[in-house]
Amino acid sequence: MHCPFCRHSDSRVIDSRTSDDGLSIRRRRQCPECGGRFSTIETASLNVIKRSGVIEPFSREKVMSGVRKACQGRPVTEGDLAVLAQTVEEAVRQTGSSQVDTNEIGLAILGPLRELDQIAYLRFASVYQAFDTLEDFESAIAQLRADHHRLASDLEE
Ligand SMILES: [Zn+2]
Repeated sequence: MHCPFCRHSDSRVIDSRTSDDGLSIRRRRQCPECGGRFSTIETASLNVIKRSGVIEPFSREKVMSGVRKACQGRPVTEGDLAVLAQTVEEAVRQTGSSQVDTNEIGLAILGPLRELDQIAYLRFASVYQAFDTLEDFESAIAQLRADHHRLASDLEE
């Protein structure tokens, strides 16, 4: 790690702490040459293999833009999308693999999106799970209803 002040090629770590979400480590460093202090942030790499075979770094922004389309006209804020993208990243990182495919990302999006907005969930699932017919929508809606009833009766018990 080069010192940003004098370009000295070495630095000493004086403090390390893990971020609140546990996804990165922030290190305070000091240059032994000029005494300058600076911070570095280390994040474990996470790559996404696209259907085309192209590999690119995981991007919360891409998760957000994919979900944003499904949320058009719905009462979902940018803040909601950011929280969802973070949830997705944490879920994917918890699998422990440094490389995932777009399918796994899609799967990780479905759960939290369903919590967020059921219409957006249906739209997203219809594209992601390639719904072909109205019956596909009907069975997805029936599933949502069944879960809703189960949840409602759980609360009444
Ligand atoms: Zn220096």
